[in-house]
Amino acid sequence: MIYYKTAEEIELIRKSCLLVCEVLTYVGSALKPGITGAEIDARAEEIIRDHKAEPGFKGYRGFPATLCVSVNNSVVHGIPSEKQVFQDGDIVSVDCGVFMNGFFGDAAYTFAIGDVSEAVMKLLRVTNTSLYKGIDVAQVGNRLGDIGFTIQHFVEKVHPYSVVRELVGHGLGRELHEDPQVPNFGKRGRGSKLKEGLVIAIEPMVNLGRKEVTQANDGWTIITKDKKPSAHFEHTIAIQKGKPDILSDHTGVEAAVRANDNLKEVLPLVESLV
Ligand code: MG
Ligand code: MG
Repeated sequence: MIYYKTAEEIELIRKSCLLVCEVLTYVGSALKPGITGAEIDARAEEIIRDHKAEPGFKGYRGFPATLCVSVNNSVVHGIPSEKQVFQDGDIVSVDCGVFMNGFFGDAAYTFAIGDVSEAVMKLLRVTNTSLYKGIDVAQVGNRLGDIGFTIQHFVEKVHPYSVVRELVGHGLGRELHEDPQVPNFGKRGRGSKLKEGLVIAIEPMVNLGRKEVTQANDGWTIITKDKKPSAHFEHTIAIQKGKPDILSDHTGVEAAVRANDNLKEVLPLVESLV
């Protein structure tokens, strides 16, 4: 059952999402070759607890960390660790959830450390752009399938990449994962109608190569079967006054990346040059 939120509830979810983005901004300022997943995870947890909030993922179905940190051919659900030492040329997808004032927030960003190839940077740019294209059609009058169709069309038809099928976006609020599921693929005009007060996380996971994924031996990390890179960008949005209102905010994250000499910026795509 879909639980539609009041304006007051949406503002609480926005606060949780903005704390998630504060954590992602920290990650954007701290990432560099040699730092470990465990280090950024520990600081992320401190930032969240300093706000009298709780990590949203830690303990969720037994997940052991605050962040999901997924490197290169890892798609999502990577476990940060001391063995995870970031290298020049890595792409690092960081997903964070927060629980504060009774409501979750959820957002993700993929960072590029140092000398990442133009081919992989293009994957990141297309994935990030596909997220905003999906958000644009999250309007009253459209259906869930319109979001999935729009993302899939851009990723797979306009560009030569693949949308992951096994993992999808989701409603959220008092629970981290609520109805409805929000696939990043689908058919125009299908699925439930988008209504006022709907709060969903839209989170395209896009593979450079084939769409197939599998689970690593740690029981968590999802990896591409062809071992090619994968990118992940996520926003939580609410439908208010008929239109999408992005509750999370990557602006600070992007500014941190720009200011960090160790990272390569995920530049917007110029449509005329696509
Ligand atoms: Mg997430
Ligand atoms: Mg999510």
